[in-house]
Amino acid sequence: MYETLAMYIDGQWCQGSEGKTEDVLNPATGASLGRLPHASRSDLDRALEAARKGFKVWRNTNAYERAKVMRKAADVIRQRQEQISQILTLEEGKVIAEARLEVGTTADIIEWMAEEGRRAYGRIIPGRAPNVRQMAIKEPIGACAAFTPWNFPGITPARKVAGAIGAGCSLIIKASEETPGTCIAIVRAFHDAGLPAGVLNLVFGVPNDISTYLIGSPTIRKISFTGSIPVGKHLAKMAADGMKKATMELGGHSPVIVFDDVDPVKVADMAAAGKYRNAGQVCIAPTRFFVHESNYKKFAERFTEIASGMKLGNGLEASSQMGPLANARRIGAMENFVGDAKAKGAKIAAGGERHGNEGYFFRPTVLTDVPPDAKVLNDEPFGPVAPIMPFKTFDEVIERANALPFGLAAYAFTNSTKTATAVANEIESGMVGVNHLAISLPETPFGGIKESGYGHEGGIEGLDAYLNTKFVTQLGI
Ligand code: NAD
Repeated sequence: MYETLAMYIDGQWCQGSEGKTEDVLNPATGASLGRLPHASRSDLDRALEAARKGFKVWRNTNAYERAKVMRKAADVIRQRQEQISQILTLEEGKVIAEARLEVGTTADIIEWMAEEGRRAYGRIIPGRAPNVRQMAIKEPIGACAAFTPWNFPGITPARKVAGAIGAGCSLIIKASEETPGTCIAIVRAFHDAGLPAGVLNLVFGVPNDISTYLIGSPTIRKISFTGSIPVGKHLAKMAADGMKKATMELGGHSPVIVFDDVDPVKVADMAAAGKYRNAGQVCIAPTRFFVHESNYKKFAERFTEIASGMKLGNGLEASSQMGPLANARRIGAMENFVGDAKAKGAKIAAGGERHGNEGYFFRPTVLTDVPPDAKVLNDEPFGPVAPIMPFKTFDEVIERANALPFGLAAYAFTNSTKTATAVANEIESGMVGVNHLAISLPETPFGGIKESGYGHEGGIEGLDAYLNTKFVTQLGI
């Protein structure tokens, strides 16, 4: 049922030339799913050379032909949706219904970028003389490198692969070593769709060794990273050394502001569903819940009721509502957040501890009376922990929402257009959801501000991230 673990270099599936491997674990059981090969320096050199040659081939393939291959890859993913979803749940843990949605969206992202690649328009700028033609032309940047994490092993690689390939670039992707199977399945779909050798290459290994080597290579002209802020800063510094473009999709700590003019029970239903999606391991997860004092009690009670009633279990079982955390590190992190909040006076309204003794399950947790200096209100929790706090006034809640260095996503619930507009204006965030949480779609720009990073994926911005603008001025003689 699981993927055959391999790397993909220059159109060929391969193992590492030095024979190094690591275990991939099922987070629901802790059992090994297989051994993942690591790339040696010479494997990386082969991947770089393949990407260099692949870029030449792909940039000279016209946008219509490129789109055909990409659309075919999207169709292959759709045909294999069930199989890939099972791979995703096995390695990442999320419940199968969420995995199916993710794999469907993976195909949609590739298809959308296939189409958008045909519209990489430049523009004509009026010349200062009648026989001068001034053109701004969009060109693919070149060979790119991408690094993706374990929480969305389908969507995140898809955004980078589709953006790069849709624009006419080649790519070396290092997907997460903890959830490699889904990206392998995506690359397999491109292979089966007839993507020319070298355009897309997939490697694994020790993350810092691979990124240092690839970013340091003159072949790589752009990097894209999704993951934690410290790693993002580290990679951005390396990219700056080579003056390489970078897209940084980093962590968040999304505020959710629930005003006094909404039904607190309805909003709690929506907010809790959003919070515990993928066990809270979502960079845009609703995270700091600020609820107007008039709605606070009802909201917290309903949220707690939902959290306490959720059925945890292996994501492959249809009855499971929340799967395990993706790895053992997240269990330690959750215990730390809860322990720290408790020691500082917070109350645990639901959960707060591990569930069972097999796999990495942690109970859906609700914290109330959380003091502002609690770690969970300052560091990204990235797990199923929901701190709920009351607020009194608009200005106060905006100040609290904007107090952190993060600026990825923010949410507000209100029936007032005036309040909705004011929140959208005042909040320091790359994305804002008003009265719903659906802020990540293939056709819309996805990205953060402040320490949450820079650049976008998705939408026309996600294609533009892989294009250079060249100015050509031509005198008719
Ligand atoms: P981490 O910081 O060690 O790693 C985050 C991701 O970056 C992993 O996929 C890892 O393989 C990769 N990575 C680490 N060092 C790298 C390097 N030098 N070069 C290239 N890739 C590298 O932390 P972790 O324990 O895996 O995750 C913990 C934290 O990471 C979370 O608390 C969360 O803040 C953040 N995270 C964010 C996202 C996101 O979608 N923005 C996804 C996963 C993790």
